[in-house]
Amino acid sequence: MLKLPGLIDPHVHLREPGGTHKEDWDSGTAAALAGGFTQVLAMPNTQPPITGNDELALTLAAAARKARCDYAVYLGAGAENAHDLPALAPQAAGLKMYLDQTYGPLRLDEMSLWMAHFENWPRHLPIAAHAEGRTLAAILLLAALYDRSLHLCHVSRREEILLIRKAKEQGLKVTCEVTPHHLFLTEDDLPRLGNGPGEVRPTLATRRDQQALWDNLDVIDCFATDHAPHTLEEKDSANPPPGYPGLETALPLLFTAVHQGRLSLDDLLLRMVANPRRIFQLPEQPETWVEVDTDVRWEIRARDTFTRCAWTPFEGMPVQGKVRRVVLRGQAVYQDGQVLARPGSGMNIRDRNYRLSSKP
Ligand SMILES: [Zn+2]
Repeated sequence: MLKLPGLIDPHVHLREPGGTHKEDWDSGTAAALAGGFTQVLAMPNTQPPITGNDELALTLAAAARKARCDYAVYLGAGAENAHDLPALAPQAAGLKMYLDQTYGPLRLDEMSLWMAHFENWPRHLPIAAHAEGRTLAAILLLAALYDRSLHLCHVSRREEILLIRKAKEQGLKVTCEVTPHHLFLTEDDLPRLGNGPGEVRPTLATRRDQQALWDNLDVIDCFATDHAPHTLEEKDSANPPPGYPGLETALPLLFTAVHQGRLSLDDLLLRMVANPRRIFQLPEQPETWVEVDTDVRWEIRARDTFTRCAWTPFEGMPVQGKVRRVVLRGQAVYQDGQVLARPGSGMNIRDRNYRLSSKP
């Protein structure tokens, strides 16, 4: 049995408000605990999107009632809200900028809007951007011009990771994350997944792109699931929404890579605990750990998961290492397939009482 710190996922979509038929704060944070995550940062492309005080308050109220693990919520950069967001910034996980095609209405095309957010958002608080290909080059230029930190979400292509390597070599304050699905799946998996279920942004890449991520592991700061649940009915529809669930499969997949010698355990913990904690300025959780049975070999099955979307792109995949028990702030919150934490026991990491009340 291996004892790990509680894992941190800086990129999840929990679908509440607006999409609770496929996930809500209850089912999504149950899935987090089952996957060994004790802190999650939730994205703002809900319905309504979280672009101001009212939507943030609505979302945080739902989370306070239902969350089973600790959490914070991003604010979404919109065309109109650059001047209003700084006042809300201390309550948020960070600012999310959608600069490429995504799920929901938050995409910002015009670079003057990007500049407005760079000028207004507090310099010391995190900005996370969805930027692919040449858009990534454009936002890197802004980070350089404004000399501020920038976190790049779900990097998936060889040209992107090479550009980020160069930016880091030049001293830019840039960090990045990669998803397990881009590390373990490629476009070769699309026939098996089917066109609708296979939809994801960024799309699955070539084997060469995938290999470039593994070859440039030292440039990757975080593993983030981009847990993006949709029902199979939606995925099989005429207009399938992009996204895969990932909270319950990330650790087994990555732990299997550790077992195979593709990754060290330190590599994993740096990217799932220490780096996200530093980048997103998250406090430590006292008396919090995850017990993993390192010898168990098993196959990933959607029927055993807690996410409401009830499918996984990794169905049937053999993995090694299973989460047996999770303890959060001194309480057993998951054990052998049972989520023990009650809804509402999770805490808002950005609440000003969080540090105080999380002391043992
Ligand atoms: Zn996402």
